[in-house]
Amino acid sequence: MEKSTSKNENKKTNAKINLKNKNSKILKIMGSYTCGIAWYCKKCGGCCDSPTVTKKDIVNIAKYLGLSFNEVIEKYLRYFDGKMGEIKEVRGRCIFLDKRRCTIYKARPLICKLRPFSPQFKNGKLVLTYDIWFLKHCRGFFIGDMKIDKKYFKYAEILVKSLGFEEETPKEEFNRLKKRLKNAHEN
Ligand code: SF4
Ligand code: SF4
Repeated sequence: MEKSTSKNENKKTNAKINLKNKNSKILKIMGSYTCGIAWYCKKCGGCCDSPTVTKKDIVNIAKYLGLSFNEVIEKYLRYFDGKMGEIKEVRGRCIFLDKRRCTIYKARPLICKLRPFSPQFKNGKLVLTYDIWFLKHCRGFFIGDMKIDKKYFKYAEILVKSLGFEEETPKEEFNRLKKRLKNAHEN
């Protein structure tokens, strides 16, 4: 009995060390700041619901699937207002999600490429911070600073031009997530 307890404790310690190593490895690669919370996509498909699409996204998807612009709208969009639309869901998940895999990954909409970041303006400057949904649900978070890849700013600029920017995420959401992560790391 004692043996198995100490085995479990060892396992826990090793898991913590592995997590620490993994994090510092990722942090080394990525390295700066988004409210002190780093992120890594576990490709769980958890955020694949019904993404907003721009005209350009529809053009890309049409090209990728060998369909016309209107065929994509008819088959895969739940609405399109001439400027933007939304991809259909099947049982609450994006129609392009197959188990955990995106079947149009190379042509996925900009908003999917930007996840989990949310483009916001602070003092007239475009900044990226975490989207509130991700702070509540994404499984890829852990504490630590992480540099935002330049490509995300590129996606954000294009997206802001088409869809506008989002409301600032309240500080309490970050604090709530930090608390959740702290508890998870300690247990
Ligand atoms: S929920 Fe988070 S970890 Fe899962 S696919 Fe989306 S971004 Fe990646
Ligand atoms: S298009 Fe792909 S990445 Fe975007 S929500 Fe659908 S399945 Fe997920």
